Amino acid sequence: MSATIIDGKAFAAKVRAQVAEHVARLKEENGITPGLAVVLVGEDPASQVYVRSKGKQTVEVGMNSYEHKLEADTSEADLLALIARLNNDPSVHGILVQLPLPGHLNSDLVINSIDPAKDVDGFHISNVGLLGTGQKSMVPCTPLGCLMMLRDHHGSLSGMNAVVVGRSNIVGKPMAQLLLGDSCTVTIAHSRTRDLGAVCRGADILVAAVGRPEMIPGDWVKPGATVIDVGINRIQHPENPEKTKLVGDVDYASCAEVAGAITPVPGGVGPMTIACLLANTLTACCRANGLAEPEGLTA
Ligand code: NAP
Repeated sequence: MSATIIDGKAFAAKVRAQVAEHVARLKEENGITPGLAVVLVGEDPASQVYVRSKGKQTVEVGMNSYEHKLEADTSEADLLALIARLNNDPSVHGILVQLPLPGHLNSDLVINSIDPAKDVDGFHISNVGLLGTGQKSMVPCTPLGCLMMLRDHHGSLSGMNAVVVGRSNIVGKPMAQLLLGDSCTVTIAHSRTRDLGAVCRGADILVAAVGRPEMIPGDWVKPGATVIDVGINRIQHPENPEKTKLVGDVDYASCAEVAGAITPVPGGVGPMTIACLLANTLTACCRANGLAEPEGLTA
């Protein structure tokens, strides 16, 4: 069998086009432009790239982008004061604090100081609780992107066995909650799971969010299963040691032989994450203004 490739790049472009269309309508009919504020503390090179890319895509869909770049030694009090200002600014509908923060800052405290209605990353404890209890929330972008692709591919997910490998707060746990919300039977696996291969082989939907390059081999995949690879790992290029290469958490070649469908790396989950950030900002803006939410752009 050769798996269908789930094209996250094309799907993300579709989501962005949907967002852009809705934003244009909001401007024309309601005179409202959604605004996303991104806060970056310090000069982590990967974070700088992400923030630039987020800003660019925000503007491309017609939203306002507000970038706040702070020195690495910014005090917690100053950062919290900025977040308080953004919480009270009606032109800002979404606030994202780029993680990881420098070590002297308490990430939990900072994230939980964001107005939950503007928490477009979905990491605030209120949003975590709302998601866990099946209530309307802001949903973390990466798992939301995975859910959208799964719904698009399968239609209903009801009754399917889903295994999520990884239990982080930003991917594994919210992914499991979303799959449960769509009536999957969900198993969360992690570094202490016994016989991970056997657990994975029971999955109709296998989500890998581990952070270990190509860890999941094809013989852990149930024939015909859908494999969602969240991993982004940079490894040395096998043919050219001077170059690097991005790979996921699954061994793509062997898994694609067994799976029914699979997301590639790059070009799978990655592009969906920023598209979902834009979708969340639009959703937050509609909610803040008491307007109907766009359909199909949240959980
Ligand atoms: P994380 O916080 O490091 O969590 C990794 C999880 O994997 C942990 O729960 C850990 O278990 C589990 N794990 C580690 N080694 C394992 C093993 N040998 N067997 C089974 N489970 C194991 O990572 P994360 O932030 O969730 O990210 C996971 C991956 O997704 C990374 O590659 C990251 O770069 C990528 N990512 C991609 C996007 C995107 O936009 N596409 C967004 C976020 C993250 P324990 O809890 O037991 O330690």
